[in-house]
Amino acid sequence: MARLARDRGLVLCTQDVAETDRIVTILTEKRGKLRILVKRARRIDSHAGAILDVLNYAEVIFYERRELPLLREASLLHIFRELKEDLQRLEAAMRAAAIVARLLPDRQSYPEVLALLLDYLRALEGGLPPTVGELSFELKLLGRLGLGPFLDGCIECGGKKGLTWSPERGGLLCTACGGKGEEVSPQIWKALRGLRNLPLSAGSRVRLPERVLTKAQELVERFIAWHLGR
Ligand SMILES: [Zn+2]
Repeated sequence: MARLARDRGLVLCTQDVAETDRIVTILTEKRGKLRILVKRARRIDSHAGAILDVLNYAEVIFYERRELPLLREASLLHIFRELKEDLQRLEAAMRAAAIVARLLPDRQSYPEVLALLLDYLRALEGGLPPTVGELSFELKLLGRLGLGPFLDGCIECGGKKGLTWSPERGGLLCTACGGKGEEVSPQIWKALRGLRNLPLSAGSRVRLPERVLTKAQELVERFIAWHLGR
C-alpha cells in the first residue's frame, strides 16, 4: 500500500498530461519543491484542479509512490485574491514562481525560499511596484540559494575599476582579471546591491532612473539565464 502524506505549500506551476490529468508543482513547507499527479484535474467539475491553481496556497494529502506522488485531496488555505486582480502584479508573481520552479531541485527543503516568495506576493499585494520588486526578489532568491552575484567590486581582486558583468565567474569582474564586454557603471552595481539588501517591503520607496532599472534587469536576467542553462 502506498503511504499517505500531508504537506502545505504554494503552487508554482502546472503541466497538463494525458487527457484530463495535471502535474502540479508545489513549493511545500516540509519537502521543498514537490511534483504531484492530480487525476482528472482538467475536468470542469474538478475540485482539486481549481484549488491547485498557480499561486494558491493549499494543503495536500497524497500517496507517496515509487513514481510521482498521487493527490488524494486538496484544501485551499489562501488565494492572493488582490494580487490576481492586477495583471501586471499577477504576471510578476507568475514569473517569480516559474523561476523558483526552475532553479530549485526536487524534494530539497527550502523554507527560506518559501518564506521569501510568500513575502514577495504579500508585498506585491501591498503595493510594491513590480519592476523594483522583481529585481529585489530575484537578487534575494539567488542569495538564499547560494548563487547570488558578487556585488562589492571585482570577484577576483576586489578592485572597483573597469567592472564588467560575468555570470560565469559569479558577478562583477574587472577587465584586468579577464572581464569582457560592456562596463557596468558604479550607479548600476550599487543599485543592484541596494535592491538585494533592502527589505522587500521598502521597495515602494526606491527611486531609480528608468535607465538604471532597465540595465539592472538585463544583468539579473543574464545571471539567472546562465544558472538555468547550466
Ligand atoms: Zn579584478
